[in-house]
Amino acid sequence: MDNLILVTGGAGFIGSHTCVALSAAGYRPLILDNLNNSDVRVLERLAKITGRPPSFIKGDVRDRTLLDRIFREHNISGVMHFAGLKAVGDSVTDPILYYGNNVTGALVLAEAMQAAAVKTLIFSSSATVYGTPERSPIPESAPCRPANPYGRSKRMVEQMLADLQHSQPDWRISLLRYFNPVGAHQSGLIGEHPLGNPNNLMPLVSQVAVGVRDQLAVHGNDYPTHDGTGIRDYVHVMDLAEGHVAALRHAASGPGLVTLNLSTGQGASVLDVVKAFERASGQRIAYEVGPRRPGDVAAYWGDPSLAQVTLGWRARRGMDQMCADTWRWQQQNPQGYESDGAL
Ligand code: NAD
Ligand code: UDP
Repeated sequence: MDNLILVTGGAGFIGSHTCVALSAAGYRPLILDNLNNSDVRVLERLAKITGRPPSFIKGDVRDRTLLDRIFREHNISGVMHFAGLKAVGDSVTDPILYYGNNVTGALVLAEAMQAAAVKTLIFSSSATVYGTPERSPIPESAPCRPANPYGRSKRMVEQMLADLQHSQPDWRISLLRYFNPVGAHQSGLIGEHPLGNPNNLMPLVSQVAVGVRDQLAVHGNDYPTHDGTGIRDYVHVMDLAEGHVAALRHAASGPGLVTLNLSTGQGASVLDVVKAFERASGQRIAYEVGPRRPGDVAAYWGDPSLAQVTLGWRARRGMDQMCADTWRWQQQNPQGYESDGAL
């Protein structure tokens, strides 16, 4: 069969949701994950949603011997590479850890794919590669000036893969630049479960709603935006997941390299998110306005038109659904995958 897709980092937030979309589209995911930022219990949740447990190998994407064995033993037709570290602040304090995991991980994977002649690759890049954008919506042609080691690690991998595709034009490579992924599968069985203290807005808002946290600290309300708070382009994780399936289908149409924003094209402010979450949950979200967060950009959102034209994909789920699905996941799983209430 030629529909087996290796999903590195498939136990994580975006990877697990993409496994659902892959299964729904008739592909079979084979997850490779070292569980460094995920919980193995996601596998039983995936089985419950899709009716079939995904194949899973616990291991590190930097382990070339393991990769060679995986490609030898399985008839893999393509790879989605989610495995990586993603905390911007940690990347500043430990850049070598980030370059080692994100850049070396992609390099070892590309070497193993080359050796195995598997030449279809979808890579998780990030809007972080743009750094502080000159204008929004940001097109893919905007200059890339990442402002931290995490963003630079993503940009380095993009450049490496573009060089690879240039030298070997039979590769089919998609570089997908995600904006702010939020939400959860509508079943409430899988979602984002940040280990330790979350830094991102949506998990923090949902923790306030469920009572894990007293209030949200709003990082500044003196930005030049409609309500003074920062604006981002939040995209539902199931829309992202479907974007990956669309990229896989596009790859089947012929070799080449595409670089695409996965975004909605619309920005929402911190207070827009708070209000939408209040509507979705029926809970009041207490917040206190504090100082700006160092390094924050006031507002940016992505231009999704190239992804629409190239893949025939567009984000379909709005902010209300992002909040409703996050809330369902949070309520059913206050302790993430440690909660057994939803099973
Ligand atoms: P996540 O941490 O939930 O998932 C990443 C998964 O990769 C985890 O399950 C982790 O255990 C695994 N992993 C990490 N290093 C590994 C290694 N060396 N070998 C094997 N497995 C490894 O993160 P996510 O939010 O699902 O992000 C997935 C990808 O998308 C990452 O590459 C991330 O940089 C990128 N991305 C995420 C966001 C975001 O805000 N969530 C935005 C843009 C891009
Ligand atoms: N934000 C906030 N309080 C928080 C976390 C985030 O006000 O506790 C704001 C942040 O300043 C930004 C927006 O929410 O304007 C999104 O932040 P997040 O960290 O989720 O995404 P990023 O800034 O990395 O795009």
